[in-house]
Amino acid sequence: MQKSFSYFAAMKHLKALRKYFWKYRVRLGAGILFVMLSNYFSVLSPQLMKFIINYVDQSIAGTVSAEHPTKGYDYFVKKLITILSQNTNVVQVIIIASLIILFLALLRGFFMFLMRQTIIVMSRHIEYDQKNEIFNHYQKQDALFFKRHTTGDLMNRIAEDVSRVRIYTGPAIMYIVNLISVIALSVFFMLQSSVELTIYVLLPLPILAVIIYFVNSNIHKKSEQIQASLSDLTTHAQESYSGIRVIKSFVQESAMLKFFTGSSEKYRKNAIALARVETIYFPSIMLLIGLSILLTIMIGGLYYINNQHGVTLGTIVEFIVYVNMLTFPVSAIGLTASMIQRASASQKRLNEFLNISPAISDAENSGDFNADGDIEFRNVSFTYPDTGIQAIRQLNLLIKKGEKLVITGRTGSGKSTLAQLLLRMYDIDEGEILINEKNIKDYQLSTLRNQIGYIPQDIFLFSDTVEENIRFGSYHASKEEVYEKAEIAGVHNEILKFAEGYKTLVGERGVTLSGGQKQRISIARALIKPAGLIIFDDCLSAVDAKTEREIMARLNKYLEEKTAIIITHRVFSLLSADRIVVMDEGKIPEQGTHAELMNIQNGLYLKLYNRQQKGLQDDEDEAD
Ligand code: ADP
Ligand code: MG
Repeated sequence: MQKSFSYFAAMKHLKALRKYFWKYRVRLGAGILFVMLSNYFSVLSPQLMKFIINYVDQSIAGTVSAEHPTKGYDYFVKKLITILSQNTNVVQVIIIASLIILFLALLRGFFMFLMRQTIIVMSRHIEYDQKNEIFNHYQKQDALFFKRHTTGDLMNRIAEDVSRVRIYTGPAIMYIVNLISVIALSVFFMLQSSVELTIYVLLPLPILAVIIYFVNSNIHKKSEQIQASLSDLTTHAQESYSGIRVIKSFVQESAMLKFFTGSSEKYRKNAIALARVETIYFPSIMLLIGLSILLTIMIGGLYYINNQHGVTLGTIVEFIVYVNMLTFPVSAIGLTASMIQRASASQKRLNEFLNISPAISDAENSGDFNADGDIEFRNVSFTYPDTGIQAIRQLNLLIKKGEKLVITGRTGSGKSTLAQLLLRMYDIDEGEILINEKNIKDYQLSTLRNQIGYIPQDIFLFSDTVEENIRFGSYHASKEEVYEKAEIAGVHNEILKFAEGYKTLVGERGVTLSGGQKQRISIARALIKPAGLIIFDDCLSAVDAKTEREIMARLNKYLEEKTAIIITHRVFSLLSADRIVVMDEGKIPEQGTHAELMNIQNGLYLKLYNRQQKGLQDDEDEAD
């Protein structure tokens, strides 16, 4: 009972696929038609076999008549028999009939080919559409979504779940249509031939169904366990690879190996348990199919000898062929059912994802406003929703157009959060953020972000060439522009020293860049974006102070016309800044020029400065 409910539930989740089936309705319709045609041609050949056997039987007995009985045959077979019966040459009749059987097999194969071409191809199209739909949906999500879902989780949705759904829209649908049409056609013609024999032959079927039903749910459960332990195994392996340096330096290889063997052992146990169940599955199906064939021969033979129920030698052969035709589709019921269950579980997860609407999206009346103006934080408070940490507390700050503002403060004081709020990665809880006298919520998200160049604290480079990484986001930028920006960021000469210069690949399969190189490439990337406001989030922390000062000097020239927010925890590199804002616990306790800040008795800035001058910068700051 519970099982049938879960099938109901299965179909409920898969409803989401209707729009795709509708989109590809022509392919799907044609596919179903081809399945039916292919099965139609395959049920014709047992009928012809029956005819040949009966014909030979009669010719041996010398009772061949021009009027061969045509009861129980398909319309076309009847026509054929009427024509063939005119010919009294037994050998010729056999040869012609055999050739027709061969031709039917070819026709069947041809339609099977077309069926794959339509249904399987349709499932690939749906897979493609679905992947795009999900990816598109991911892109619309806000920062909170990506905090709540791990990369692995997101990857699984787009890779594994979608391919499981594809197994349903392709193979499973094909098997179902095939099963239904094979059963319908063969049982129909079996009943035409002999009702009594049909009943006996189909007797083992209900038992078969029950076995499939139970064994399959067992297999399903076990394979889910396998899936889970495999996922564990992969995670362990993956972590060991990416953390190999830590593992080695802490000499924890054997502990990690123990971990890995543990999950490996669990996987082995589950896989063996599954194999045990599977070893029962196919033999029992074969046993019951064999039983059907046995019944056909035994009961059919008795009927034939006693000349009962119109059973002939040909009928027995015909039935055996039908039973064989049913073998594969029936034994695939279990497989198909678990395909549907898996697809449904996957589609359920996908639906959950697709139903999450981003908290941060364009407001109804949002517009394409110009952000080239003053920036103002008015009484802004913000608490990270997932951790409950209040990162910004009733903060007020005015940044004039064209100003170069430096923000400093210890780790965790809220500097990066401030930058993210300006980009509307999160929405604030209290207060307002205005750019050019407009609330940032009134801007279209894309307009807002397009007008801000942002170099995040955690650098990310794509597995592509250095050049493309810099050009990212401004695809029309010329080579010269790329070089120029790399020059400003102070990385041009180093790039030229790479084996393939700007064409050098970075990322997993490319060269290993130093932290400082990555930071400077990412600065060049932000500079190439035509934006009036640029935010540098501690993006020179990995280069030495001298290089930092050189880059800042070059940047100053480039930034002349622009508004810039420079976040840094290195106080001594900002001596020349117009205004320095010191953050602490989400507030701004001090601001002013370097000289002004140094004059505050017991001030935060003074402390930071002195500590850094002494080179006693605490580890916490380094780790930032
Ligand atoms: P800073 O850039 O000055 O080092 P942050 O703005 O990164 O400081 O962090 C401010 C506070 O917010 C810290 O207490 C930090 O733990 C917390 N925080 C930062 N990022 C997140 C996040 N994505 N989710 C939850 N809490 C965060
Ligand atoms: Mg930070």
